Amino acid sequence: MNEEISIQSLRGIGKSRADALGRLGIASLFDLIRYLPSDYMDCTRGRTVAETEDGEAALFYVTLLDAPKMFTSRNGARTVSVQATDGTQKLNVLFFNQSYMMANLKSGVSYYFYGTLSKKRGVYIINPKVFSEPTGIVPIYRTVKGIPQSVMRSAVREALDMRLNETREWLTDKIRDEFGLMPLADAAVGVHFPRTFDELAAARKRLLFDESFSYFIALRCFLAERRRAGGISFKTTGVRERLETLLPFKLTRAQKRVMDDIANDMASQDPMNRLIQGDVGSGKTAAAVFAMLVANENGLQSVIMSPTEILARQHYEKLKAVFGDKACLVTGGMSEKERRGTYSAIASGEYTVISGTHALLEDKVEFKRLGLVISDEQHRFGVAQRAKMAKKGASPDVLVMSATPIPRTLSLILYGDLDISVIDELPPGRKPIKTCYVSQAKRGGMYRFIRDRALAGEQAYVICPLIESSESLEHVSSACDVYEELSRKLDVTVGLLHGRMKSAEKENVFERFRRGEISVLVSTTVIEVGVDVKNASIMAIESADRLGLAQLHQLRGRVGRGDKESYCFLLGDATKRSAKERMKLLTETTDGFEIAKKDLEMRGPGEFIGKRQHGANELAEMFAGMDMRTLDAANRAAAKTVKRMNDDAEARRMAEHALGIYGNAMESIAFN
Ligand code: ADP
Ligand code: MG
Repeated sequence: MNEEISIQSLRGIGKSRADALGRLGIASLFDLIRYLPSDYMDCTRGRTVAETEDGEAALFYVTLLDAPKMFTSRNGARTVSVQATDGTQKLNVLFFNQSYMMANLKSGVSYYFYGTLSKKRGVYIINPKVFSEPTGIVPIYRTVKGIPQSVMRSAVREALDMRLNETREWLTDKIRDEFGLMPLADAAVGVHFPRTFDELAAARKRLLFDESFSYFIALRCFLAERRRAGGISFKTTGVRERLETLLPFKLTRAQKRVMDDIANDMASQDPMNRLIQGDVGSGKTAAAVFAMLVANENGLQSVIMSPTEILARQHYEKLKAVFGDKACLVTGGMSEKERRGTYSAIASGEYTVISGTHALLEDKVEFKRLGLVISDEQHRFGVAQRAKMAKKGASPDVLVMSATPIPRTLSLILYGDLDISVIDELPPGRKPIKTCYVSQAKRGGMYRFIRDRALAGEQAYVICPLIESSESLEHVSSACDVYEELSRKLDVTVGLLHGRMKSAEKENVFERFRRGEISVLVSTTVIEVGVDVKNASIMAIESADRLGLAQLHQLRGRVGRGDKESYCFLLGDATKRSAKERMKLLTETTDGFEIAKKDLEMRGPGEFIGKRQHGANELAEMFAGMDMRTLDAANRAAAKTVKRMNDDAEARRMAEHALGIYGNAMESIAFN
């Protein structure tokens, strides 16, 4: 069928470009169509300087007032500069490293320039794209070397022209009418090549509806199944007091209150289904350990599932301190031999308290009597994953923990009938983290500061969103480059950590950081969640403009965990208005709830929603742009569909489609 048509059959896509697309996760024509623009250029009409705000990108219709001039800076960089007018106002146009513009631009001629306007010191447009006429709304794609935007656009256009999506409509007309949704095929075209911004909004609405509708169907099926099952009634008397004798600190009032909630749930015959929400550093782990202690004393096994190996190991260390050799660790990086040994000891019940990553979801991991499933930083886990884990026991109690503060109304929609406990108090003695934006000019000063602190025995993280520069978008620092630079410049021990390293290497580097042998750890966002090293007091985040608020807040939460004065430095391009706003907010508050509220206003609820495990970035991003009304509509439609799916063929077909997206785990739950 059409789906089989190779991506190489598209004009301009040969073997090497097909490989490059592969690196973006695009293997088929459908992948290409699902690869949504990350942004759009509004080239519908030429605008004037007066109509445009500082930092805003737009198409300008200007006439050149003189011939272009070229300057060469001391490091050899060439800049072409030309004066222009929009009819009412003069402006300067600069092109960096594009000396060919000297020949392309003529005095007295008019051009359309698309670029970001700067009104700070004089009026400038820097590195604009040049057009001969307004071209409408132009999509921009995240791309890699070897695939220019123009190739990406024409490939998508050609794939869309095959109208593959016409056979993929899965919503009934009734639902489409009820919620005012356009057909899927139109939405696919409209999201890539919208004629108007209204059309773009309608296309996005349809695609967002699809995403959230299937998510909610899967979620509702999961919850319905759990309710039917009935849970375990644990004995909980005296457990908290026993825990208190084992911990090196006194519990906060908020922690005690949450433990009481957990104890009540676990004692009850209904399965526990609780979300613990607490800002980074509020001490959620202790609540998890409490629940695991209850399970253990009742002779049942428990697991805590973490999104990264580093976090799983960290939890394991803490569990070992309380449970000794009843605790074990399961990660993808284990050797075959270790794996076999560990799995059989879990199956026999020798290990009762288990910390692990997604590796725990493997079919081979079987339990003797699993009574409690905890997922830490649960926004990282999809519904299907939580469901699959819960299936490994007979109606185990479920506890999920999240530092991403989810506004209550949103969490009710997202998690259905999950109960919520909030840890709204930090352990005593924490000092607020001093946060500031560091401009390019002040980078050297920041490095010196980091070095001085490191020499005084403190530790720092330097976060870079990308691993290597080869895969990088321009102007984005990569972990490898920064690592090299810092190793050269700082006379303290620097380490490198990223997701592509072997687990043993990762473990080794992180262990050395934990022990203080490494002073400065250059890392990708693999350390984002949960990592707890008290001696670390500096968090520097490169290319912070590329990260969302919640993620930045999470990263910042890696420091300020001891009683030392802690710092968070934000680096990167703050010219875009949204980036500037995010950074400003972070410098003004460290309150996670406040930040979450703003994040929701600025980005929509996407940040709060579990990313689906097949992890197509563009879909995750689409979620990010969702508005609450669409979310709510999808939730209501899902409720109706699930209710009717046993008697109505259409509803069942839609539900099966939705569950198909969430993988076999959900399917077996809903249809067995
Ligand atoms: P998070 O909620 O971000 O998961 P953690 O559970 O990792 O936070 O706790 C953060 C740090 O605070 C840990 O080092 C932990 O040992 C410590 N901690 C937790 N509870 C308390 C407490 N009541 N008093 C002092 N320190 C605590
Ligand atoms: Mg944690």
